[in-house]
Amino acid sequence: MSNRVELECLCGAVKGNIKLVPRAFFHVHCLCCDCQKFAVHLSNQKNILDEHGGSELLQTYPELMKITQGQDKISAIQLKEKGIYRWYTSCCNMPIANTMNSAKIPFVGVSVKLMEFSNEQEKTDKLGPVTLKAFGKYSIGEMPNDVHATFPLSFMPKIISFMLKGIFRKRNSPSPFFNGKEPVATVDVLSKGKIT
Ligand SMILES: [Zn+2]
Ligand SMILES: [Zn+2]
Repeated sequence: MSNRVELECLCGAVKGNIKLVPRAFFHVHCLCCDCQKFAVHLSNQKNILDEHGGSELLQTYPELMKITQGQDKISAIQLKEKGIYRWYTSCCNMPIANTMNSAKIPFVGVSVKLMEFSNEQEKTDKLGPVTLKAFGKYSIGEMPNDVHATFPLSFMPKIISFMLKGIFRKRNSPSPFFNGKEPVATVDVLSKGKIT
């Protein structure tokens, strides 16, 4: 089975791929209010969020992700100053990925919605089951049983070890979102008033 997953936005203008390396990714659902605000900002909730307001993400290293087409359609926002960078396609308003606001950090949370699978089974085979569902306290409607209310502390050692390995192996770069230290697109900061 190929360890590569193709990425394509809704309209097909932006394409790329992700290399799946064992123990170098987490398959998660994030129900946090910021991911929901991002979807609302893009006016595209129905294509982005599940019925509980969750976003499905694959957290991995920037080095393992490539954008091969449509680089000029990459835009980014920060919900607030010093917030994470939220990258999206300006062609069809789909989230591409989240990164930290520094090129040094070996972390990217890629939108699973952009990934091409022939069916659910192929997705599960490649990404494995969802290992973390977090921030259920922001869920739309009743919080599902299998979701943590916030971010579980029990998950922190995994994240820390992932980060340390990524820093040690310099897996922050190359990144599709940074040229050296500089982001590849202007990052707009949403004013507080705009996102309520
Ligand atoms: Zn598009
Ligand atoms: Zn979130």
